[in-house]
Amino acid sequence: MTEIKLYNTKTRKKEVFTPLDAKDVRMYVCGPTVYDRAHIGNARPVIVFDVLYRLLREVYGADHVRYARNFTDVDDKINATAAARKAAGAAGTLEELVQERTDETIAWYLEDMGALGNLEPDHAPRATEYIQEMVDMSAMLIEQGHAYAAEGHVLFDVTSYENYGSLSGRSVDDMIAGARVEVAPYKRNPMDFVLWKPSDAEQPGWDSPWGRGRPGWHIECSAMAEKLFGKRFDIHGGGLDLAFPHHENEKAQSCACGSEEDFAQVWMHNEMLQVEGKKMSKSLGNFFSVRELIEQGYPGEVIRFVFLGTHYRKPMDWTEKKAKEAEATLRKAAQLFGADTLSKPWCGSLDVPPPQEFVEALASDLNTSLALTLIKRYLKEESESKLASSLKLLGFEVGSLIEAFASFESSSSKNILGESRRGRTFGSTADLDANRLAELAETLRHGRDEAMRTKDFSKVDKLKAALIAAGVEVRMSKESVELSEGVGFDPSKLEDLL
Ligand code: AMP
Ligand code: ZN
Repeated sequence: MTEIKLYNTKTRKKEVFTPLDAKDVRMYVCGPTVYDRAHIGNARPVIVFDVLYRLLREVYGADHVRYARNFTDVDDKINATAAARKAAGAAGTLEELVQERTDETIAWYLEDMGALGNLEPDHAPRATEYIQEMVDMSAMLIEQGHAYAAEGHVLFDVTSYENYGSLSGRSVDDMIAGARVEVAPYKRNPMDFVLWKPSDAEQPGWDSPWGRGRPGWHIECSAMAEKLFGKRFDIHGGGLDLAFPHHENEKAQSCACGSEEDFAQVWMHNEMLQVEGKKMSKSLGNFFSVRELIEQGYPGEVIRFVFLGTHYRKPMDWTEKKAKEAEATLRKAAQLFGADTLSKPWCGSLDVPPPQEFVEALASDLNTSLALTLIKRYLKEESESKLASSLKLLGFEVGSLIEAFASFESSSSKNILGESRRGRTFGSTADLDANRLAELAETLRHGRDEAMRTKDFSKVDKLKAALIAAGVEVRMSKESVELSEGVGFDPSKLEDLL
């Protein structure tokens, strides 16, 4: 059996991974707070832990691995979004608007993450379905002297758990000294955190021994993980920004009443994603959702390939250049497979295992950048079977690759990704010919619908490439095709396309 090594945040070491039960390997990853579309940073933990899930399934067998990723559907940010919609005149109670928002955001999330080639986890618990477990856990923590009730709140007493701070490597005294948290009068200690808090009549709330209220964020994951996996399980993951306070607090809650051996054995954290060397932020204009990237014409496979190029424990930069390189490599792979690939015996099946060196690259703390180097080597050697099985383990299906890069002939010398797609100033070219763009959008939409039926995307790709070459911003979704003027928009180049 392949030996897997993983870096454990808890011990700050790369360790040989030994599951508690090789017949039931359990991994819990913190999922999104569902109030808005996922931005591309949110996709990083999803892709990283999807690759780990696939590796675990490869090594222990698909039926012996369980992956849980929750939806945080109780949160003040969700309440604030719903309140804003209500203030803007949306019909319904605040609770109904919260429900509407969380439902639609979950559907978007699954669609977007699916488009990036991620498997759906075995468990996708919604926090609202586990409120009783959260109440029970809070009550137990009070009973054991680790929490206290005050003014409708329940707070975890950080001084009651001696290892508080050990996961993120902080001491309680330092935390207090550096704390910028507002000190609520009902807290005994500024670092004490909320397990339960009161809701007003409008906010979502549930009955509890402390009055009508709702859980804090940290207790959600502790309660859901224990309910699904028991007191001890193997891996707990999430982005590095969650290590403190979220994971520190989850661990404290779950270990306080038991032992240090409880809860997750291995803690894993992905580093953060930046855009063109800068932190993503709305004010810099480099903040975009996964959906926006897809609608701009980036195939999900290209996005995934770019993500895998950087080791998960290193900060990752999303750049146009990387997207182009990824696109070129994947297009070459699709060309190598060729249209007859789907009839080849090894294709689409797991019968051909990936080369052992490839599995070992991933088993070495998910060395995806080495894995991509091997992919490029198999591509150069034109070893179709090695390439297909390796790509499959990374989450790329040969069939989808062929579909995404169907127009080998027409676009082989071009990229479907245009120049400088972001940071453009909309409407900066004064004479935007709206009618012409609307007509072309209609042609493109029609061509795309046709291609979905015939599986021949060559015409569509050609038109899309020509539009992009003319500086047109192309946004395609299932429902619509939108064209708008981008930087370098050259209306004269549209003449031939009409
Ligand atoms: P949230 O919905 O904010 O709780 O985030 C969901 C997941 O996305 C968490 O695992 C975060 O750590 C992760 N995440 C958020 N922003 C980034 C980023 N810029 N880079 C990588 N991971 C991120
Ligand atoms: Zn969590």
